[in-house]
Amino acid sequence: MRVGVLALQGDVEEHLTAMRRALGRRGEVVQVKRAEQVHGLKALVIPGGESTTIGKLMQKYGIDRAVLAEPELAILGTCAGAIMLAERIEGYEQFSLGLMSISVARNAFGRQRESFEAELHIEVLGKKPFPGVFIRAPVITEVRGSAEVLAELEGKVVLVRQGRYLACAFHPELTPDRRLHRYFLEEVAGA
Ligand code: GLN
Repeated sequence: MRVGVLALQGDVEEHLTAMRRALGRRGEVVQVKRAEQVHGLKALVIPGGESTTIGKLMQKYGIDRAVLAEPELAILGTCAGAIMLAERIEGYEQFSLGLMSISVARNAFGRQRESFEAELHIEVLGKKPFPGVFIRAPVITEVRGSAEVLAELEGKVVLVRQGRYLACAFHPELTPDRRLHRYFLEEVAGA
């Protein structure tokens, strides 16, 4: 099984390492830089970074069309990656794949809290709290249709699943805890 990490901009290395640990011997994790590398992937990670830039580069290299042409592809979007999955980005006219019935607000935790860590209670990962690393993180402001809230922090939605898509406002690749990557692979992507 092949899992791709979109490698246009953002914290690509950390996701490659985290995904390789979570996947183990079940398959290989590859960097995706061109449209033709998307076909045949079981799952794709869209990392955090700068969502405007990631969106523009996806369009420039035709990766947006390649992703939209793969109806079976599971996608984990973290931070800027979650913004890429959203149907609506509040206050911005920027590109997104629009695969999930969610709205997001960029940089929604306020200036004083550009980056912070918080314990998250995520039922699907078990009882032990998950270390949530938030860096200029978005908040998921609306969840519609079959999209399902998996975690909130201070009443703000930070993790949503819709079918084979997982939108995560924080950075699971920046902690040694691999439960979220494993959940994505096993429960969301069906690996
Ligand atoms: N603030 C960034 C954006 O809106 C996302 C931050 C991140 O991915 N760490 O694009």
